[in-house]
Amino acid sequence: MKGGRNVNNYENAPHCYFSVPVERRLIIEVTRKCNLHCSHCCSRSGPRGKDIPLQKLKEVVKKISPREIYISGGEPFLYPQITEFVEWLKKRNIYISIATNGTLVDKLEEVLPFVDKIQVSIDGLREDHDELRGKGAFDTVVNCFLKKFDKLRNTQTLRISCTLWKNETLEEEYIKSYLDFLENSIKPDEVVFNILIPVGRGSYLGKTIFLKELKIKSTVKKVASKNNNYKMKIVIHRDKPFDEKFQCPGGNKIFFYGEKGYSPCSWIYKLMPEFTNEDLKKSTEAFTSFLRTREKLGEFGCPAAAILYSNSPFRRDKLWRNSS
Ligand code: SF4
Repeated sequence: MKGGRNVNNYENAPHCYFSVPVERRLIIEVTRKCNLHCSHCCSRSGPRGKDIPLQKLKEVVKKISPREIYISGGEPFLYPQITEFVEWLKKRNIYISIATNGTLVDKLEEVLPFVDKIQVSIDGLREDHDELRGKGAFDTVVNCFLKKFDKLRNTQTLRISCTLWKNETLEEEYIKSYLDFLENSIKPDEVVFNILIPVGRGSYLGKTIFLKELKIKSTVKKVASKNNNYKMKIVIHRDKPFDEKFQCPGGNKIFFYGEKGYSPCSWIYKLMPEFTNEDLKKSTEAFTSFLRTREKLGEFGCPAAAILYSNSPFRRDKLWRNSS
């Protein structure tokens, strides 16, 4: 992708909804099949979702040549050739992260040797996680999946992903109890706090929570700084204001592929389908041209967040420094 945007100075730049990689990262939704039917699922996955053929996945990887890949879904552990796929990626020396709901315990042993990082969702304490993901889900993750992971793990990083999704869980006291539970019982390498983005099934739950994005982040930061003896790393994306130097890494450092084609990032895939195309070049060129127009109009920051905050990609992302 020559002649693209200059996004080489990201190490010191603020994060968008992703930590921006130095080299290319591909986010790939290998399936929309899922054994759960979570009420906040941004990709509306469920038992009848479709898989992307393995041959197509390999073609996409060859085309993007990523240094890192993040495999998501749906539930990637349900993808019929998941082991074959990660083994193939490993041979190409690609850093592999895989996201899972942590309920398909039997598949873990097969997949784990090939991955570098496993991201398991725990969306709050037992009652709240189960309300979102189904009764018994929390115990399966904590008492079966993660116990097995502990026995099998070698050098793999364990990341817990938490989407806070209801008002009662946004308070300092709750967040502290949650972090204490992780630190004492799970001992992950890191925890990432995601915001419930109101797309897919999440659109029914998410709007009011999304608008509290900045408050949630400052609460998490406050808890983390008051309890600075946590060993796990606490990751909060979009935690600093953006300025004119911030350029969206979508279609330049970050690429997405899902059942409808390539898109510059997973949120743009869901919010601006006009940039999804089976032709990678068409997708990235159209998005780059859109970003240039946006900059000429004086708007910066994340276009996906601009839609979510202001209903238009040409309006304000709340984190841009001049936003009111
Ligand atoms: S649209 Fe750009 S800035 Fe926003 S989350 Fe996606 S990659 Fe990051």
